Amino acid sequence: MSDFTIQNVIIPQTDGYTTTDVQIVDDKITAIAPHLDIIGRLVNGENQLLLPGFVNAHTHSSEMWLRGLIPPFPLELWLAELYAFPLLTPEQVYLSALGTAGETLLSGGTTVVDHLVLIPNQELDTVAAAVRGYKEIGIRAFIAPLIQDLPLSMGIPAAGTSQTHKPFFRSTDETLEFMATVIQQFHDPESGIHIAVAPTGPQLCTDALFTGCMELSDKYNLCRHSHLLETKVQQKLAQERYGCSAVEYLQNLGYLSDRTSLAHCVWLSDKDITILAQTQSTVVHNPLSNLRLGSGIAPVLKYRQAGVNVAFACDGASSNDSQDLLEAIKIGSILHNVTDFDYRHWITPRQGVEMASIGGAKGLNMADEVGSLEVGKKADLVMYNLKNLSLLPRTDPIGLLVLGRPGNVVSNAWVNGKQIVADGEIVTIDVRELQQELFNQSQWSIKHQSQFTKDMEGHYRFVMDLPK
Ligand SMILES: [Zn+2]
Repeated sequence: MSDFTIQNVIIPQTDGYTTTDVQIVDDKITAIAPHLDIIGRLVNGENQLLLPGFVNAHTHSSEMWLRGLIPPFPLELWLAELYAFPLLTPEQVYLSALGTAGETLLSGGTTVVDHLVLIPNQELDTVAAAVRGYKEIGIRAFIAPLIQDLPLSMGIPAAGTSQTHKPFFRSTDETLEFMATVIQQFHDPESGIHIAVAPTGPQLCTDALFTGCMELSDKYNLCRHSHLLETKVQQKLAQERYGCSAVEYLQNLGYLSDRTSLAHCVWLSDKDITILAQTQSTVVHNPLSNLRLGSGIAPVLKYRQAGVNVAFACDGASSNDSQDLLEAIKIGSILHNVTDFDYRHWITPRQGVEMASIGGAKGLNMADEVGSLEVGKKADLVMYNLKNLSLLPRTDPIGLLVLGRPGNVVSNAWVNGKQIVADGEIVTIDVRELQQELFNQSQWSIKHQSQFTKDMEGHYRFVMDLPK
């Protein structure tokens, strides 16, 4: 029996906080009230804050192998660097899935959306390796294999020049067949592994790929994911290729829905924002990545005012370069204060926490099951030690958690009622062994610039009106 009762824990209420008991039977919250009978194991919640687990709503786990390494470049050149590195092995994908999940859990996350970069010609093994990692550690995982059917060089507009492109190495049909196989083999929500369809974005995918993914999503009831208008270049490209915005393009295809989540959304017009609101699509805000790659500041305050659901994420660890969700929530909340003098629109710490929890859950069509502290919901819970030095002295716990710089504050975490973190340590895997493997399979390195980046740089600078 894994039932447990958390005693005397602090939880937020509409106005302030209360100290209460929380009872968990099997995988669900069965009671929240003071002085409950102790069912199962007793967990002392004294001086601890209990919150619903957050969603790390967009990342690329295997980028962990390159974190801290890629020089300051905008997305298009950064991608050229990323793809110029030697291919990973499935074993490395497994290890970086564990690492990504571990950092997510230790910064308040209980669900991760992994827009998983596939090793060419080992696509199925890549997914299997990530599934293995996430199952072992026990985080709730949405694995969204990153697919495209156009070559990387087509991600930059021609801007009146004539450009030649090599075809992408895998056909659209093969990619869709691969996705069908992945779904049949690995989509298993009961075990905490969900597969999502996720063309990388309109800049590198054909109509046929999006349409094929929509059919799979409808057939198997899967979430839909994509990057959307991360950079100015992508905004220009959509106009050049489709004669409309990328949002209008996706709406015309029918890709936008209440189970569609869209990473970045930096370069949207007011009309685009209305479309996202009407289609109940979710924006996934990756503030650190947007800053690191110079992509811009997503108009998150406008999204909130228009009623668009917004979730937080870290994005891959080579454009961040960590998987600290609390950091993403902090920066993603206060960054927008500089975009609007009306401080009444600014994101409060409590709103930030809600965006990260119920906002994340909504984007994954799971708001009925996770994302808030309510009886009947699944026990995806995180407890924070309020006696940690970084959370003292005692003021507003959520204010400290979001606006401060909390370190090592997660004391306990449960996913689906199963304990994953206890006394500040991940207990489902051998973390020391993971550290040793991450160390062994890497080496101290410095930045380098690939030939591929050099080849693309001239055209990029032309398109962006930058001096030669
Ligand atoms: Zn991404």
